[in-house]
Amino acid sequence: MAGPYLNYINGRWREPRSDRWFERENPATGEVIGRFPDSGADDVAEAVAAAAGAWETWRFTPAPRRAEVLFRAGELMTAGEDELARHVTVEMGKVLKEAAGDIQEAIDMTYYAAGEGRRMFGQTTPSELPSKFAMSVRQPHGVVAAITPWNFPMAIPCWKLMFALVTGNTAVFKPSPYSPLSAFNLLRIFEEAGLPPGVVNLVFGGDQTGAHLVEDPRVAMVSFTGSLEVGREIAAYCGRNGKRLHLELGGKNAIIVLDDADLDLAMEGAVWSAFGTSGQRCTAASRLIVQQPVAAGFTDRLVARATALRLGNGLDASTDMGPVVNQPQLEKIQRYMDIGRDEGATLACGGARATGNGLNSGYFFQPTVFTDVRPRMRVAQEEIFGPVTDIITCSDLEDAVAINNDVPYGLVTSIYTADTSKAFRALERITTGIVYINAGTIGAEVHLPFGGTRGTGNGHREAGQAALDSYSEWKSVYIDYSGRLQKAQIDR
Ligand code: NAD
Repeated sequence: MAGPYLNYINGRWREPRSDRWFERENPATGEVIGRFPDSGADDVAEAVAAAAGAWETWRFTPAPRRAEVLFRAGELMTAGEDELARHVTVEMGKVLKEAAGDIQEAIDMTYYAAGEGRRMFGQTTPSELPSKFAMSVRQPHGVVAAITPWNFPMAIPCWKLMFALVTGNTAVFKPSPYSPLSAFNLLRIFEEAGLPPGVVNLVFGGDQTGAHLVEDPRVAMVSFTGSLEVGREIAAYCGRNGKRLHLELGGKNAIIVLDDADLDLAMEGAVWSAFGTSGQRCTAASRLIVQQPVAAGFTDRLVARATALRLGNGLDASTDMGPVVNQPQLEKIQRYMDIGRDEGATLACGGARATGNGLNSGYFFQPTVFTDVRPRMRVAQEEIFGPVTDIITCSDLEDAVAINNDVPYGLVTSIYTADTSKAFRALERITTGIVYINAGTIGAEVHLPFGGTRGTGNGHREAGQAALDSYSEWKSVYIDYSGRLQKAQIDR
């Protein structure tokens, strides 16, 4: 891997003024993959100044020209897809196929956002007065702070940066310290695509670096994806200081399995949604709400499937599930095993760190299924973010929907049923931001809005046309060509 890994500020690769560094290790092997700047307040200030300076030019660059840079970035990502995917696996652990999906999502989003360069439609509408023209146009916020987690190291930054750029913002990007390599790769791509200096700046670092960025008064908008706790902290700051804010936070998603469902199909959806990316997706199915008559059989089959998953290095083609991201995450999952047991849940399988067979130097956790789970237990309410799922039994559709909706998060629900009227009734009553019928909780596409209700966010959406509303604001324009003073609401 080609280092040195430096910050990227105003079109130049820069050593950190802080003179501090951190190392990232491969979570499957413990090997150090590189040393990255631990940026301080001065580095952040310099990056924000560069973004603020570049905005004065970038916002007046015609949107189709801005989009051309994005199209070139999309081509470069496509050409480098294999290596980019390998780097994702090496730095955060997910298996190579899923890492390739991460890169593909980044490419899809880049092209989709680039297409907006020639759309970004506003409205024209009649005025209530004669000889007067009325329209609305989008305008950028200014400097956007993009702060991201590690679980989709390429896709999530592209969700944010591509829309921010095409709408005319400039950005400072602060990736997670657990996925710095992909951030470095993305900036190399922007550089090669010909993005002008200062339009996107990269500062590596941890939570403190993120906090410096949020608190810089020249940052007009914060786009944050991460945990509920940090999101709420940032929201409080932005609320007090009048900053625009986009939040994408956690999930406690459920798959509802009714007794008339195709159970083979539901099983495939459950295994993929609960254990894909080692359960470390905001869209992971950490609750399986199963109708009583089929619950015991479904549980037995799920336990057999979970126990058979092959754990290992995600680069190995025979691996089904990679490690979790780091030691704190491993410890957090372990704590929830005790919390679940203390509350009266039963471990049907898993429940411990996975060791042996080359797993000892990585952060591997056994695929885990809790049974005897009641809906208000902590393991059924709180996001664990690991390969852990709960079986909760329900009596009927109404009961299932009530259980589903009664959590602090609201990202995804899926329901398996063969009954169309039940599917539509569920669709109407489920209160999450995303719903699947007869598919798992994973599988969002870039041209539909992505985000959730309640604690999952603050009402904004990534992706689709909805993202335009996050990264731009409306300007209403009135052009009076009557040559006289006309008074709206008064001259009638
Ligand atoms: P995290 O909240 O710990 O960190 C996210 C980012 O915020 C990191 O870059 C971190 O360095 C930074 N940060 C931490 N404290 C900060 C502060 N006080 N000020 C500014 N920045 C700060 O989350 P994580 O562990 O990296 O990611 C996992 C979480 O992300 C899970 O809760 C998951 O559900 C969520 N997530 C949500 C979505 C979504 O779209 N809803 C997608 C992926 C992940």
